[in-house]
Formats: sequence, structure tokens, C-alpha cells
Amino acid sequence: MTERTLMLIKPDGVKRGKIGEIIRRIENKGYQIIAMKMVVPTEKLLNLHYAEHVGKSYYPSLVSYMMSGPVVVMIGEGTNIISGWRTLMGETNPTKAAPGTIRGDLGREWEEKAMMNIVHGSDSVLSAEREINLWFT
Ligand code: AMP
Repeated sequence: MTERTLMLIKPDGVKRGKIGEIIRRIENKGYQIIAMKMVVPTEKLLNLHYAEHVGKSYYPSLVSYMMSGPVVVMIGEGTNIISGWRTLMGETNPTKAAPGTIRGDLGREWEEKAMMNIVHGSDSVLSAEREINLWFT
């Protein structure tokens, strides 16, 4: 099924100069980037985007990490892109993410409460629709 998903390159990915490398992997895979912009997210937007994490011990650290610089925001499109992009990203914890994935190849853990893991992808069709509407109003 042709799907759309929200893809973010988080502030650590941008600061470390990985925008090109990440977009190269998306395009090499054959997915289309149909919208793209760069923004520093507001706390209000993050509270909505990360609604399920509000109140967790790492949440304040997650907000300051996500507001620490610009984020590249993209809408990707392709057959089964939601699960395909999550496979390309690798698992949440970059220490455990498999080599060959973005997080496995480019990420590591740091002494921060929130995991700095370079990229984000929606986890379902419903989340994708919700997140795309939040970031592209
Ligand atoms: P997710 O909704 O899975 O993308 O999680 C949101 C983000 O919160 C992750 O990408 C991490 O940056 C951070 N995060 C999620 N779970 C944890 C955790 N257990 N400890 C620290 N940071 C986390």
C-alpha cells in the first residue's frame, strides 16, 4: 500500500552534518521525499508530537534535546514506507541498533537522559497522519 510517513532528522543529526547521508539512504532505498523544511520546534509542538512520553523521567531532557537546534522535517512516500523507514532507522537505542541502519552506523549513547538517536519515523498510519498534520499545518 502506498503510504506517507513523517521523517525527522533530529538536532544531533543536523549538528553532526548527517543530513546528506540520511537523505542519500532514503533516496537509495527508492522512497520519495514529497515535502521538506527545516525548523526549530516549539515546546507546544513537541508536547503534542510526544504526547505519550509527557511525564516520563526523560521527557524534560527529550524536549531540550529536540529544541537544541534545527530539525529537518520531511514527508516520505512509498509502498509500506512506515515500516520500511523504521527498518532503515534501526531500533530506538543506538547502542543496540544493528550495523547497516542509520542509528547503528551513525549513532551512539551519550550522557543524556533522552536517547539522542538522530532520526524519527511515525509508527503507524494513524500516527503518520497525526504527525504530518502537526508539523505541516
Ligand atoms: P519514540 O516515540 O519511540 O520515537 O520515542 C521518542 C524519543 O524519546 C526517542 O526517539 C528517544 O529520543 C526518546 N526516548 C524514548 N524512550 C526512551 C527511554 N526509555 N529513555 C530515554 N529516551 C527515550
